[in-house]
Amino acid sequence: KDTKLPQVLKIFYSFFDTLNDALIVLTRWIIALTPVGVFSLVSFSVAKFGINVMLSLWKYALTVILGLLIHAFLNLPLLGFIFGRYNAYRYFFQVKDALVLAFSTASSAATLPVSLKVSQEKGGVKKSVAGFILPLGATINMDGTALYEAVAAVFIANLFGIKLGFLQMVTIFLTATLASIGAAAIPGAGLVMLTLVLNSTGIPLEGIGLIIAVDRFLDMLRTSVNVWGDLNGAKIVNKFSSFK
Ligand code: ASP
Repeated sequence: KDTKLPQVLKIFYSFFDTLNDALIVLTRWIIALTPVGVFSLVSFSVAKFGINVMLSLWKYALTVILGLLIHAFLNLPLLGFIFGRYNAYRYFFQVKDALVLAFSTASSAATLPVSLKVSQEKGGVKKSVAGFILPLGATINMDGTALYEAVAAVFIANLFGIKLGFLQMVTIFLTATLASIGAAAIPGAGLVMLTLVLNSTGIPLEGIGLIIAVDRFLDMLRTSVNVWGDLNGAKIVNKFSSFK
């Protein structure tokens, strides 16, 4: 709003300023409507598949949680031990601040500044390595999201009584990995990218209406695993890097 600006720029400025305000108002309306929307989507699914489907939703959520825990506490530590020669459980406590933040924000991008800080200050990762690997990882390396998308796709296929053959399983595996690479590091991005996985194997998109009910909690967990994967990647590369 600098008065020295030429008139035309002032018009541009106030146009975008007003547009921004309008979008914020729209976003607030959408956020206020979200509980009603989720309730309607879930009611639709329950009406279509029966109340028993809510029970299987718990089994689905537990499968995702179990998969994420195995990946976080067995796979990644094993990789860390084999390639990085470090104790991932000790590292876990050193970088826990980033993991807690990932859990509470459900966003790898929002967690990035803290991941950068703790990996260097407490985890002993070099600045050059952390500065390259962590932003790259936050954008493209989402192991938790890939795992969740694969489980969700199989769950929805079962719900609709679709039998998945070997080829379809491979397609789910590949598209889930690609979708996780393409997912933005923000809350709920994995759910949006799930449409890609479902489309590739001809699984009906309506299934998303059901799993959306438990998605926020799973999002928090998978984001922590995504960030934990990045932090382990940085620690492993740190071992091989000769940069200061
Ligand atoms: N929220 C996740 C992340 O930021 C992405 C997702 O929705 O899976 O890492």
